[in-house]
Formats: sequence, C-alpha cells, structure tokens
Amino acid sequence: MTSRPIISVRNLEVGAMSRHGMLRPLRGIDLDLPFGQTVGLVGESGCGKSMTARALLNITPAPMRITGGTIILDDGKAPPQNLSALDPDGVAMRAIRGARVAMIFQEPMTALSPVHTIGDQIGEMVRIHRKLGRREAKAHAIEMLDMVSMPNARQRYDAYPFNLSGGMRQRAMIAMALACGPDVLVADEPTTALDVTIQAQILELLQRLQADLGMTVLLITHDLGVVARTTKRVAVMYLGEIVEEASTIQLFDTPLHPYTQGLLSSVPRLGSRRGRREPLPTMRGTVPSALVELAGCAFHPRCTKAVAGLCDVIKPVMAEVNPGHSARCLLYPEVLVASKRGSSVVQPEPVS
Ligand code: SF4
Repeated sequence: MTSRPIISVRNLEVGAMSRHGMLRPLRGIDLDLPFGQTVGLVGESGCGKSMTARALLNITPAPMRITGGTIILDDGKAPPQNLSALDPDGVAMRAIRGARVAMIFQEPMTALSPVHTIGDQIGEMVRIHRKLGRREAKAHAIEMLDMVSMPNARQRYDAYPFNLSGGMRQRAMIAMALACGPDVLVADEPTTALDVTIQAQILELLQRLQADLGMTVLLITHDLGVVARTTKRVAVMYLGEIVEEASTIQLFDTPLHPYTQGLLSSVPRLGSRRGRREPLPTMRGTVPSALVELAGCAFHPRCTKAVAGLCDVIKPVMAEVNPGHSARCLLYPEVLVASKRGSSVVQPEPVS
C-alpha cells in the first residue's frame, strides 16, 4: 500500500454571487486521498462536506461553480489531470465521472431513474463507458448485483427502483457506481437514510468492496461512530475549510481543534453515565451561512477557548502540530507562527 494521493485537492474554492452577496461554501480546501484508503470527511450540516463531494466530480449545483484551486487526479491510467479545469459538461469530464471517480448519495433516487429497471441502468453505464454489447452489459450488470450481495440478483435485474426496499436500492446504486471499476468512490452520507440494521450491512459492504477492489473511498458523514469504524484518516470541516486532519486513531485519541473536541464530546459513549442519563453536551450556536465573512478564526464566535484580540484578528492556517496531524487553531505555536507569517503551510504527506 502506498501513501501517494490518487486525488490531491489544493486551495479549492466554490462560490456564487447571490442577491445577498457572495456565497462561499468552499473556502480553500486542501485534501489528499491516498491510494486504497478510506478517508472520512466530517462536520456539522452546512460545513461544506457535500459541496466538497460534488466539487470532486465537478457537479456543483447551479449557480455554484468552482472558482479556484486544483483537483489533481493521478490514478496512473492517464497523465495527471486537473478536474477543476475541465468543462463540467465536456467529454473529458464525462469520461472520468463514473468510470474513474464515482459517487453514491444518501438518497438512491438521486442516482437511479424511477422509469428504468436497475439492470438497464447498470448496463447503460458499461455500454457507454466500456462500449460493451447488450448481452455482455447484462451479464456484467448481474455480476455487479451479485457483488453487492443483492438477493436474487438475476431476478432483481428486471426490477424498478420502486420495487426494492431502501437497503436494496442502496445496493443497486452502489452496483451502478462501481460498474465501470472506478478507482475512487465518493460516498456522501450513504447510510444516513437507512435504519440501523441496514446501515450496518451497507457499511460492511462498502468496507468489503473497498478492501477487495483496492478502491480509494472518501466517506462523508456526520456520524463519528461510522468514521471510527471504517476510516484510516479523517478531515474535519468547518465553514468551508478543513480545520483538522489526522489518522483516525490520532483524531479520536488527541483531537486538537476545539471544534473537533466539541463534535467528539457530543457523541454518547456506550455505557457511560453521561450517555444514559444526562443531556448531551452540545456546542453553542450553529454553523454560519456561506455568506458570512469573519475576521480571524471562523470558529471564534462559538469557541469556548477563543482568546480576544487574537482569535478574532488573526486568520489561522493549517499547520502540522504532531507528525501526520494538522490543525487550524492559534492555540498551537506551530499554527500561530505560520499564521503570523500569513503564508499557507504546505500539507504534510499523508501517513499510510
Ligand atoms: Fe478557538 Fe481561537 Fe483556536 Fe479558533 S483559533 S479554534 S477561536 S482557540
């Protein structure tokens, strides 16, 4: 296994002008997805997680568009390409989307057409991208349905999405996403809409597929329990920026950023007194809108550790605080020094 990133995102910005001003849901994202690993992306609703997922496939919802930065795809199948520079509707981007980088959504009906059978939809993917004939496409679609453990795959080939349960629809969507053998799968809250039992089955399926196929997975979720069980590295987002990035073990053992600490303290611990009887501690306030521009640290109005005259003045940059563990908080000398220099700090190489 190598730690070389298959996707390397630098200073990625997404925005759009609205009648209330400039909306900036992504404000300079730096993120590496190492080959063959599952990376978690966490944060509250409104932090920009889903927008990051969509930007990676260049499918930002109109009028949002990528306004800066790079998304370098280097999967070894072609020379490295900057996806952010490609026309979202152009031939080059359409050839990459689905075939080399694929996405699954929280709600399968976002990806599945209600008026076509799931077999036709999976087969269509390989007919377009792999130029397979009708018979081979059907055989491949049934194979994919088998691979995602769809019960009675051969019969379900002719089913419409409305004939399937929520869990089966999710399996069909995963089969469709993986039909062309992508190296990168972006999974945006893939189990949030499912009940707990089915959720566990789908997560297990994704973990098995990731290991069997050696895929790189970006798993977007607000569920820290899912992250702890399934990922190797984690990035934490707040108001369009990554504020902490580390191995999953480091992040859960020694969270550095007060926002991460707040997120973790909001998770009930199994069997703990607090988890059973007492109200959960929650962070004060909510994530500001993508219109808001704050001086200093974007988290300072909600931060219990904010230092007046510092946190509301100096904008923190990401800096490595411990080996392989970076944060964007001025309480750490490494961050303070780098932030005062006003320079962006080069991201450390991810640790395998
Ligand atoms: Fe809190 Fe200041 Fe750190 Fe921001 S920089 S997270 S406001 S302590």
